[in-house]
Amino acid sequence: MFDPAIAAGIARLSLLVVTFAGFGLVLYLSTHGFDRAVLLIPTWFLLTVWVLAAGFVVAGAITNDLAAPALLGGLELIVMLIGFTVMQHAFAGVSAEGLMSDVERRALAVTGAGEVVWDWDVIRDRIFVSPEAELILGFKRGAMETEAQAWLEFVHPSDRDRIRLALDAILDQRRGRIIQSLRLKTEDGHYFWFSLRARPVVGTDGEVLRVVGTMNDITELKVAEERLLQDAVHDNLTGLPNRELFLDRLDAAINFAKTDEKIRPTLIIVDLDRFKQLNTSVGTAAGDSILLTVSRRLSRLLKPQDTLARVAGDQFAIILLSEREPDRITAFADTIRRSVRAPIGFGERQIFLTASIGLALVDGETRERAEILKNAELAMHAAKQAGNDRIEVFKPSMRNDKIDRISLESDLRRALEKDEIIIMYQPIVRLEDRRIAGFESLLRWNHPKLGRLGPAEFIPIAEETGLIIEIGRFVLDRSARQLALWQRAIRGNNPLFLSVNISSRQLMRHDLIQDVKSVLSRHTLAPGSLKLELTESLVMENPELAAQMLQKIRELGAGLSLDDFGTGYSSLAYLQRFPFDTIKIDQQFVKGSGGKRGARPVILRSIVQLAHDLGMDVVAEGAETDSDAVELYQIGCEYVQGFAFGEPMTAEEARRLISPEVTDRASARPAPASTPAT
Ligand code: C2E
Ligand code: MG
Ligand code: MG
Repeated sequence: MFDPAIAAGIARLSLLVVTFAGFGLVLYLSTHGFDRAVLLIPTWFLLTVWVLAAGFVVAGAITNDLAAPALLGGLELIVMLIGFTVMQHAFAGVSAEGLMSDVERRALAVTGAGEVVWDWDVIRDRIFVSPEAELILGFKRGAMETEAQAWLEFVHPSDRDRIRLALDAILDQRRGRIIQSLRLKTEDGHYFWFSLRARPVVGTDGEVLRVVGTMNDITELKVAEERLLQDAVHDNLTGLPNRELFLDRLDAAINFAKTDEKIRPTLIIVDLDRFKQLNTSVGTAAGDSILLTVSRRLSRLLKPQDTLARVAGDQFAIILLSEREPDRITAFADTIRRSVRAPIGFGERQIFLTASIGLALVDGETRERAEILKNAELAMHAAKQAGNDRIEVFKPSMRNDKIDRISLESDLRRALEKDEIIIMYQPIVRLEDRRIAGFESLLRWNHPKLGRLGPAEFIPIAEETGLIIEIGRFVLDRSARQLALWQRAIRGNNPLFLSVNISSRQLMRHDLIQDVKSVLSRHTLAPGSLKLELTESLVMENPELAAQMLQKIRELGAGLSLDDFGTGYSSLAYLQRFPFDTIKIDQQFVKGSGGKRGARPVILRSIVQLAHDLGMDVVAEGAETDSDAVELYQIGCEYVQGFAFGEPMTAEEARRLISPEVTDRASARPAPASTPAT
């Protein structure tokens, strides 16, 4: 259709254009991130050179005989090169998109899963681990490429034999699979957990050529697993054994005791007193750190063979194996008691904790752990009832006074109506002349079945159920009436006073002010002679509210007395913000058995001195002997209350005690209470 000369001319020109434009395009693409264009550069360069050469030949600029065959050869070479590049391109596209061999797929899967290839060339004895592992472990590349023996040096000593055995076994049996977890050493001497899964590759002669598989970093998994295992038997706050582990060890100790006479374990239960209140007043986070402090103090006291566990929120238990002499055991329990008592620094404050401690001995007869646990718990409860910060050893008699709490609760609701709740009066004596200055009202419950119960056994229940409000009102009114009667009978310069205990539920209600007001208006009493007794821990639960309430009560004409001083915060300087007129020093400071004989009078003396400086009277509680009283008098304390001067007694007994003073004022000393209160 065309003139051949024109057609050839068009073809040559278009070849020239395609070549140069193509070369430009290839260069452009290869500098803009298209890797395949880079591969085309040499081929296209040759093509450009060839086109130029062909141009010179056609134009007659080159007239060599060899020019034509050289151009033909060059063209073949270029076509082949282009062919290769196209093929390569085509295959690269295919493997990622559609058809893929199983081998390729596996290789991609291993990379995709982030697994480390582990390959042991058995014939050359070389182990190859892909560089990811070396990166994780912090080694230089190729550091882990060694013979098997040397490679095992990277494995944790405790795993080494197991792994060696697994490798030997696979060489022996020539089949099977290695599935092992192992720890590999890092560059800085830590260990990471890996799971190794590999399989032998067997040659035509049946020998193992290599063992190939993958390795996975499972450190996080292992750590979580270990933590879980630890948590199952350990308390996660203190790290001490928890109840489960403790019970298991107790079983073991009981069994030892059965077979070996020399082993005589003691179970000790340490229950923190009033910890719940403390928790509410300082917050649970602070409560936790206090528990931690206590747990550290306790663990320091133990020998390696003993076990300390946290068995409940504020309860610790100890299996004591290191001591077997009774007096050594009680001495140990006392060390525990004192170590809990030591003040705990907390921010600006000092926290004073106490614990009630119950002991039960395991002997060859003990069959069940439930029995021994119950015994120790009974002893601990006895310690609580005796008024906290005490140690009790289990006695079989404790079993009899088990009190069913639920039925006690419902009994208590009816107790007031049935007149089962009575008030006893314990004399408070002025040391100067040893005359009765006043009384403290103390509750007793004459339970129809259980006999007479002390306040420790039912006041906590009354507080929890709210019955304390009603009971408190009853005590206040009865006491005021009684005091009015007494005051009318004896007239003197120093009117008798009567102290009534107030519990926390009562103080936190504004009704208390109303109650005091109505009681004071109903009964004619000397000002300040009806005193409310509050403990310092109670006041400190909510110091602002307490300060307000106490001020109002004081203005109404009631006295205020600070009970159990020395068992709580014990900061007189702070407490003088409250309008107390009397402080009562707790029994444990007063009783002759105070232990540190040297320090006690010094502490007592300074409390008394400070109280006097702040304008408060001092009552010492728990004077049990006459020598206690003498000592207290010398220190400057003005009043005592204690068994030496009379136990809590009925109103009638109290009247008989004071009436001689009405009729015969010359007999200075009151007769001791004729009948004990219980
Ligand atoms: P408290 O107010 O510190 O009462 C003093 C306790 O010490 C009384 O125990 C008393 O019997 C005892 N005591 C007195 N002298 C001696 C002594 O020489 N040696 C010994 N070892 N103990 C002595 P009680 O009657 O068992 O009362 C215990 C606690 O119960 C009282 O401690 C008080 O906090 C509380 N309580 C008693 N009555 C009431 C009440 O009507 N309402 C409230 N909320 N609590 C009460
Ligand atoms: Mg009291
Ligand atoms: Mg007291």
